[in-house]
Parts: sequence; structure tokens; C-alpha cells
Amino acid sequence: MIVAVVKATAENETRVALIPETCARLKKSGLDVLIETGAGAAAGFADGEYESAGARIAPNAAAAFGEADAVVMVGSPSPEEIIQLKSGTLLFCVLNPLSQHDVVRQLSSRGVAAMSLDLMPRITRAQKMDILSSMTTVTGYKAVLLAASALNKMFPMMMTAAGTITPARVLILGAGVAGLQAIATARRLGAVVEAFDVRPAVKEQVQSLGAKFVEVAAEQEDAEDAGGYAKEMSEEYKKKQAALIAERAGESDVVISTALIPGRPAPILLTTETVGKMRPGSVIVDLAAEGGGNCELTTLGETIRHGGVTIIGPKNLAATVPYHASQMFSRNVGAFLSDLTKEGRVELNMEDECVTGTLVTHEGEIIHERVRKAMGLEPLAAPQGSPA
Ligand code: NAD
Repeated sequence: MIVAVVKATAENETRVALIPETCARLKKSGLDVLIETGAGAAAGFADGEYESAGARIAPNAAAAFGEADAVVMVGSPSPEEIIQLKSGTLLFCVLNPLSQHDVVRQLSSRGVAAMSLDLMPRITRAQKMDILSSMTTVTGYKAVLLAASALNKMFPMMMTAAGTITPARVLILGAGVAGLQAIATARRLGAVVEAFDVRPAVKEQVQSLGAKFVEVAAEQEDAEDAGGYAKEMSEEYKKKQAALIAERAGESDVVISTALIPGRPAPILLTTETVGKMRPGSVIVDLAAEGGGNCELTTLGETIRHGGVTIIGPKNLAATVPYHASQMFSRNVGAFLSDLTKEGRVELNMEDECVTGTLVTHEGEIIHERVRKAMGLEPLAAPQGSPA
């Protein structure tokens, strides 16, 4: 069975879906790997390294798509790429199917079996395949570096002949995977860090990284869903939260916001009024920008100034660290492919929740119930307990 990787065509995309190390691993499980020439170049992986790992090099994307039984991509395929996929091709990529309905429809009518890696269930067994965690780890780290270079101050405390330099104060909003990585990175640079999250369960993790946990003094609400994700909070809670964040942001040099609620727009945590209370020279990095932003003023993909405050709304930050982002992506997808490979063939085991959780289109049908719901389609399966 041939697994193909093509050069990413999306604007500013520098990552590659498989790195040579993973190609060698897949080869061992009996798969053939075909790489479009130059696909890894922007991430720092040359054709020669792929060849040494046992992969073949295709002269262009059309040749790779033409031979492929399975295709692995970092982002979702463009309409021009979907046309080149053969019916029955297995596609592994980050589709964002809950919002990219046109792509889902096109893949389905093309007869592609599309696995959306961003839907991988967050269960212990799937941790090694969790692309979302890998990419947000990279973005949490890089956000701190962006903030540090945009700030008019240094991060660490310094005792110098010119006197003492006080450390920068960093506030992290949302202490999930990205937020915890941002805390660790800001601490390593010597900043004084505090973090806020609606889920009290993260308090210990925040403290173990050397940051202070900021808490809203409110009646304890059930902030987590069954999957460990945040739920939307009550109006009363939101009011208290807004006042607390406004106070803490006013004391901070840097705010890094990462708060997201699955399936909903990102919560607004930094209003225009709050930004107005921040010190001139301070910096906001809004990692929720692609989900609508945690700051009212964020513009996706741009850096703007409001008063003296710099507001950065990064787009695809993982692609600015392409070597390690590709390495992590590749290892995650490689683990998934290896699990599915039996005697040199990738098989979709419909008993495996990693397959059923990610498989969006199959045999000309959109089969993922959450995606169907988001697209306004009737459920395929009869609801449980309904009369036969
Ligand atoms: P996420 O990207 O959905 O959200 C980021 C953070 O923002 C979360 O911590 C969330 O609680 C927080 N948030 C939401 N609304 C907020 C608000 N109004 N104010 C402040 N903070 C707010 O989350 P994530 O980083 O993907 O992780 C969410 C959960 O999933 C965590 O419990 C994590 O441990 C868990 N997880 C499990 C696995 C696994 O078992 N395989 C893998 C990754 C993450």
C-alpha cells in the first residue's frame, strides 16, 4: 500500500506531514512511502533524507496523488487537490470539519475516506496520536517568544551595575495544553507568571510550574464537560471573571490568552475597556484568534496597536517552528498509521474509537454524527432506545 505526502500549498504553510524518521518506521510495517520532491524542504528535511529512510520521491503532486492509496497532509486539501484524489483514497489530515463544510461535501462526493486528525478522541490510548496537543504545545511556546520580542522590557530579573531590573509580569488566560506550555516558557525566561482558568482542576498544574493561580470568588460551578473541556459559564460568573481579569491585566506586561470552548466561539475575556486599562508598552498575544479571539480587538493574522498596547493575533503559529512541529505531527500520525496497519495494509477497524472518532467521510457518505449535526444533516444512526 502506498502512502503519499505532497508539498503543502496553503499560504505560509511550512510543515510537512511525514518526516524521514516516520517514513522508515512505516516502511518497516510494510507500507511504501512516496514524497513529492521538496515537500520537506521548508521544514528542514531534504529529499535525500527521505530516500535514505526508504521513501521514493515523486516529481510532482499529481504523480504522488495518482499512485497513492493513502495521503497524509498537515492541513485540509484544496478543491484542486481533492479532484486529484482517487475514489477510495484514505486521507489523514486536519480538516476542521465542524466549520469546513464545503471541503467535507467535496471529499464525500469524491468517495474519499477522510480521517480528521483534529477529532482524535482525548483518551489515554490516543495521547501518542494527539495532533492538537502537539501543535498547541508549539504555539504556547512560540507565543511567549513573540510577546518577549514585542515587549519594551526584558523578562528576567537582573541585578546589574545599573541597578535592579524587575522581572516582567505575565498573565496566562486558559491553562490547557497551550497555556501550560506558555507558563513553562515564560517561567524559563524569568518572568513572574499568573494564570487563570475556569477549570479549578488545573490549579495544581499551574502551581507546579511555578505560577500563581488566579481564582474567581464565586459559587463553585461545574466548569468541565465529560471530556475535560471547559463549558460555557453563567452570566454571574462571567461578570466576576471580567472584573478579575481587568484587574490582573492592568498589573501585567504581557497577557497570553488561550481560552477556547469546543464548538463555540472563543469567550471574550479582554474587552476594549480592559485593554484601555493596560499599561502602554504591554503586549497581548491572542492564541484564540483563529477561534474568534479572546480579545475584542484582535485581528486574525495581524499585529495592531490600541493606545500603547500591542495586540498580536497569530495565524498558524505552529508553522513558524516547522522542524519540530513537523516532527511532532509526523510522530502522531505515524503512530495512528502503525496502529491501523495489518500485513502492509492500512485497515479501518470500525470497532476502534480512534477510527470512528475521526472518520468523517466514507464510501460517499458523511458518516460522522457531530459533523452531520454541524452541517444541519439528519443523524444516520437511529437514536438509542428508539423503537425498532
Ligand atoms: P482548549 O484548547 O479547548 O482550551 C484551552 C483552555 O481554556 C482550557 O484549559 C479551558 O478550560 C480554558 N477556558 C475555556 N474558557 C475559559 C474562560 N472563559 N476563561 C478562562 N479559561 C477558559 O483546551 P485543551 O488545551 O485542548 O485541553 C482541554 C482538556 O483536555 C484538558 O483537561 C486537558 O488535560 C485535556 N487533554 C486530554 C488529552 C488526552 O487525554 N489525550 C490530551 C490533551 C488534552
